[in-house]
Amino acid sequence: MYIDTHCHINSEELHPDSRAIITRAKIAGVHMMVIVGCDYEDSCEAVAMAENFQQYGLYASIGIHPHEAKRYDAIPPEFSRIVKDKRVVAVGEIGLDYHYDNSPRDAQKRIFELQLRFAEDNNMPVILHIRDAMEDALEILTTHRGLKMLFHCYSGGIEYLDEVIGMGGMCAFGGALTWGNKASESLCAVVRKIPAEYMLCETDSPYMSPVPFRGKRNEPAYVKYVYEAISRERNIPLGELSAIIEGNAKRFFGWE
Ligand SMILES: [Zn+2]
Ligand SMILES: [Zn+2]
Repeated sequence: MYIDTHCHINSEELHPDSRAIITRAKIAGVHMMVIVGCDYEDSCEAVAMAENFQQYGLYASIGIHPHEAKRYDAIPPEFSRIVKDKRVVAVGEIGLDYHYDNSPRDAQKRIFELQLRFAEDNNMPVILHIRDAMEDALEILTTHRGLKMLFHCYSGGIEYLDEVIGMGGMCAFGGALTWGNKASESLCAVVRKIPAEYMLCETDSPYMSPVPFRGKRNEPAYVKYVYEAISRERNIPLGELSAIIEGNAKRFFGWE
């Protein structure tokens, strides 16, 4: 059984086929998925889908992505109500993205901080999107150490791993593990080193497709290729890995 801790079935690319995508995920053995929001509308859609397909193990995360930071001076007031929905399991994805810099950095930091406080006030874990911004992100996060944190699409390499797990941060790995390039070599090194209790798996679909679907549209059913890559790197049987990840996800999201 597999868990996809980060997918965008609510996105324009996947939404029209969501029913088929969710069915294929179930057939592939994916029994829990977290649909992640990137702005207000997207977050509402994530919650609606998690409600509509709850028998398939769908949950939602609500948040403003750093790319969208420039559109928000404050957290949408409706988030205070939506966060209480029983399918909402995290605040995210939130963070800093200095790779694309789609929003000015001060705007990214401001909405990031506001959402960290919002998560604390609502006793929610956070799903973090940090790209080329580890120094600034860790500086901000050290003042929020009480939060449960998931570094989605972890890209801090071995360099930042100790600091991240020192704060109790979980690292989620995706399709990039399978790409066979320099970035995946560095990710595989992290996968071999990280203590088992800090690992999670994700697709970030429709993006980040694993081999053999690289360059095509990703979907939660393909999370099994991520599990297989980790099982190879750590040299542990797939069944054992899947039990470890399941325990980690349940602990992190507070699932029974
Ligand atoms: Zn992301
Ligand atoms: Zn994402």
